[in-house]
Amino acid sequence: MFIGHYSVAFACRTERNKIPLWVLFIAVQFLDYIWATLVLLGIEKLRVIKGFTAGSMLDSYFHPYSHSLITAILWSIVAALIYEAVCGRHGRHYTRFASLMIGLAVFSHWVLDLIAHPRDLAIYDNTWKVGFGLWNYRGPEFALEVTLLAGGIALYLARNAIPAIRKGAVIAFGIALVIVQIGDTYVPRTPLTDKATVTGVWIFYTLFVLVAFAVEKIGSRRRINASC
Ligand SMILES: [Zn+2]
Repeated sequence: MFIGHYSVAFACRTERNKIPLWVLFIAVQFLDYIWATLVLLGIEKLRVIKGFTAGSMLDSYFHPYSHSLITAILWSIVAALIYEAVCGRHGRHYTRFASLMIGLAVFSHWVLDLIAHPRDLAIYDNTWKVGFGLWNYRGPEFALEVTLLAGGIALYLARNAIPAIRKGAVIAFGIALVIVQIGDTYVPRTPLTDKATVTGVWIFYTLFVLVAFAVEKIGSRRRINASC
């Protein structure tokens, strides 16, 4: 699962919880940020194999700290607590509900990965591996990613009072994400090394976070209540 994760970020953002989209963009990929970092450190293991599944070259044969069910729950709690601590300290808009949303957004990553991944997601440690393996079916997996993202963006546009210019920017951002997904799913390429792959993950995900930040600035007047 790739751009489908961002559907949750778009869907979670409401006028009520006022969680910035860029924060949700980090939340839904929080587990992958941990994964990419641990692979860079040599703690978690990844093989990049051409044709490993139809839709992905990633053989994540050892990622118990970032992607087991138990650690996914723990990281979700940690992320919710970080959000609470940071927002509380800065005296910014914060509700306990928003913190819960952050936790759920982080955990959504594991649920969506469960659909796409082959059996490489451990329940705990590195055992009892699960994964429905939709990555074995390139077309359906791609369709699911795009459908999820479109649904998330539709919810975002419906549930937030945003100026027309920003609506256009959000839709353009969605189209750009779909283009990136087309490249990832359909454009053949030679496998990079494990470390180069996760460096790319870090760069792309962070680029998307920056775009999400910029998009929510478009057409905004000075806000009376700064939001966290
Ligand atoms: Zn993942």
